[in-house]
Amino acid sequence: MKYEPVIGIEIHVQLATKTKMFCSCDNDSFGKEANINTCPICMGYPGMLPVTNAEALEKGVLAALALNCKIESFSKFDRKHYFYPDLPKGFQISQYDQPLATGGFVETETKDGKKKIRIHRLHLEDDAGKLIHTKGGTLCDYNRSGTPLAEIVSEADMHSPEEARAYAEEVHRRIRACGASTCDMEKGMMRFDINISLRPVGQEKFGTKAEVKNLNSFRFMEMALKYEIKRQTELLEKGEKVVQETRGFDLEKGITYSQRSKEEAKDYRYFPEPDLPPMTFTEAEISKIATGLSELPHEKEARYQQKFALNQADANQLASDAQMSAYFEEVVAKGADPKEAANWITSSILAYLNEHKVSFAELKVSPEALAQMTKMIKNGIISKKIAKDVLEEMYKSGKMPEEVVEEKGLKQVSDESEVEKWCQEAIVANEKIVADYKGGNERAIGALVGHVMNSSKGQANPGLVNKILQKLLQN
Ligand SMILES: [Zn+2]
Repeated sequence: MKYEPVIGIEIHVQLATKTKMFCSCDNDSFGKEANINTCPICMGYPGMLPVTNAEALEKGVLAALALNCKIESFSKFDRKHYFYPDLPKGFQISQYDQPLATGGFVETETKDGKKKIRIHRLHLEDDAGKLIHTKGGTLCDYNRSGTPLAEIVSEADMHSPEEARAYAEEVHRRIRACGASTCDMEKGMMRFDINISLRPVGQEKFGTKAEVKNLNSFRFMEMALKYEIKRQTELLEKGEKVVQETRGFDLEKGITYSQRSKEEAKDYRYFPEPDLPPMTFTEAEISKIATGLSELPHEKEARYQQKFALNQADANQLASDAQMSAYFEEVVAKGADPKEAANWITSSILAYLNEHKVSFAELKVSPEALAQMTKMIKNGIISKKIAKDVLEEMYKSGKMPEEVVEEKGLKQVSDESEVEKWCQEAIVANEKIVADYKGGNERAIGALVGHVMNSSKGQANPGLVNKILQKLLQN
């Protein structure tokens, strides 16, 4: 029997606020000494009163708007009880039946075209601390305790690990772009819980799902999903049942393992948080926050495709990174052809930046310099091959391409008699290829062009080389 996976994802993002969710402790504890950012509120001392962080609310609303969610005019916090050493209060402050926002969606690009994936809800909550297991015992670090989180719950609209990844990446780039979170996964600012079940293809009813918690990269999420599809298929094929449970992910072995049976809502004994007032938003308040929402990556992507006629892959790549898209737009503003600019940025320049671990802000090639280079190629002053060498020099010195070309004498040779000399040499030196071409293999001319480009050190005008070779070979 063939099975179809049904996948839903819960994404936790840490909101980029100055202070924690309900107290004034510093929200940035990365690399800091354990328990340095704590106070009686986030340590759960009795009698302490939490106060909702207005910035966290605002960032939560921004995130929800970036995901096309509806902000509820009334929402409230609830206590979610469980007992674990990383949770000093004995409960988490979360939102149960009246979340901040509901009913959103994002669109992702799949091999079958655009697909809409619905978002069930977005709610706010505070994070737990961290346990550090050592040889001598377990240590508690409460720096993260009380950190503001937004939890984004999708509908079970995804049917393959690839779709799940595409959804997570789309959420990632939107949340980052709107400024609600840095979504830095190496620092745990974005984490995924996935739930997955299988059902026979064509069947409406969902199968029993298993949940895998705390995946902190797109790759691990994809690995965990692939493993679960294999595991659950094997169980069903043997006539056994999938157990509803929470599973962990062993990244070294690439497998998931049973952790505990799945809790139900009643296990958490939710009740409204008595120490915090409910949240209310008027249309005017929501519109005011929405003005802080700049153009989102998917909108930018669409604009690049329409206005600059870029293909989807290039538009997507450029739009997904704020620095890269800003650089691209400046290059175009300085007069470069958008497609050429996109090609250079997404290939050579990006490779250089990755290799040398530098950012666009640190790149010595100014937008003006890159624009000038693309114009020099277009006007036949340098070939693309030479342009690569020129660019290498620009990375190092930050000089303008005209200056580099002048200094190194790299100007393209478009003098017909000179180019013809190189072409004749190439013909004499490559009898076999010439015979091949004359025998009807038109593509063989490419090898001759290559020969000329080599012997001219890339300076021969390739268009002219092609033309002259064809003329010479006619005889
Ligand atoms: Zn605190």
